Amino acid sequence: MTSAPDRYAVIGHPIEHSRSPWIHARFAQQTGERMVYSAIDAAPQDLAERVRDFFQSGGCGLNVTVPHKQAVLPLLQELSDRARIAGAVNLILRAADGRLRGDNTDGSGLVRDLTYNLGVPIAAQRLLLLGAGGAARGIIGPLLALHPAELVIANRSAARAIDLAQQFTRYGAVRGAAYAELGRQRFALIINATSAGLSSEIPPLPVEVLDAATVCYDLAYTRDTTRFVQWARERGVARSIPGAGMLVEQAAESFLLWRGIRPDTTAVLADLLALQAQ
Ligand code: NDP
Repeated sequence: MTSAPDRYAVIGHPIEHSRSPWIHARFAQQTGERMVYSAIDAAPQDLAERVRDFFQSGGCGLNVTVPHKQAVLPLLQELSDRARIAGAVNLILRAADGRLRGDNTDGSGLVRDLTYNLGVPIAAQRLLLLGAGGAARGIIGPLLALHPAELVIANRSAARAIDLAQQFTRYGAVRGAAYAELGRQRFALIINATSAGLSSEIPPLPVEVLDAATVCYDLAYTRDTTRFVQWARERGVARSIPGAGMLVEQAAESFLLWRGIRPDTTAVLADLLALQAQ
């Protein structure tokens, strides 16, 4: 009798928009790995119970998405260095002894998409990061490791941005700010890491910060365009890109950590973009 395939899932709330099950099914097909990957909708008050049930019933690994990336920390027995520095987890691995280890592949996924897939320069550039939640936490360290001239974090609750920036000052030139303080500052790259798009909103970014040379990148990816991507395009920026590439790259690194094989992302990203354009 053949054993059941290994089980993986993404846990979040809401979760029906997630493309992660589709991506991991493609990776499994491509690499011949015997596994299934599903989506678990867990409201905040149910998170601990759903995570425990998943692993107690034999689950092998979870991706963690909005809004649980920080809330999941107390449920874990170990953290990778990058997850500890980020204070946020997007990936859980169950070790052979049953211990749960948190990791964070968001930052490496974003950096790989920006630099390898899209050819966007980071070193010596001025960067603006919108948002100070779980996704923002995961990408600050990997961005600073590429030595931008400065990374400014802007958030609706400015105190949260200032506090977050202070936690990273030892890793590079970073500061927090309120949106209204941004004024006429110019940035080579603006990364939207807010969840404003989930409620069809746009972060309150002063339009003066955009110019023809600005590249805008939205972590949101649910369609071929997003409200933020469209908003930036309409204001004439050089490039405005939704985050499907980051999603595929962070998933590939999750797959590598779980299965020991790095899938080829090129064809999967092309198919995902085609699917989203339909
Ligand atoms: P969190 O809930 O942890 O944080 C949400 C952030 O968005 C906070 O900074 C919050 O500000 C801000 N925000 C929410 N609504 C608004 C609004 N209307 N205007 C301005 N700011 C707002 O979410 P995550 O950080 O986990 O996720 C953020 C986004 O990134 C999600 O859309 C998620 O899908 C996406 N993502 C994409 C990935 C990819 O692979 N492409 C990977 C990871 C995340 P405040 O502190 O003031 O409340």
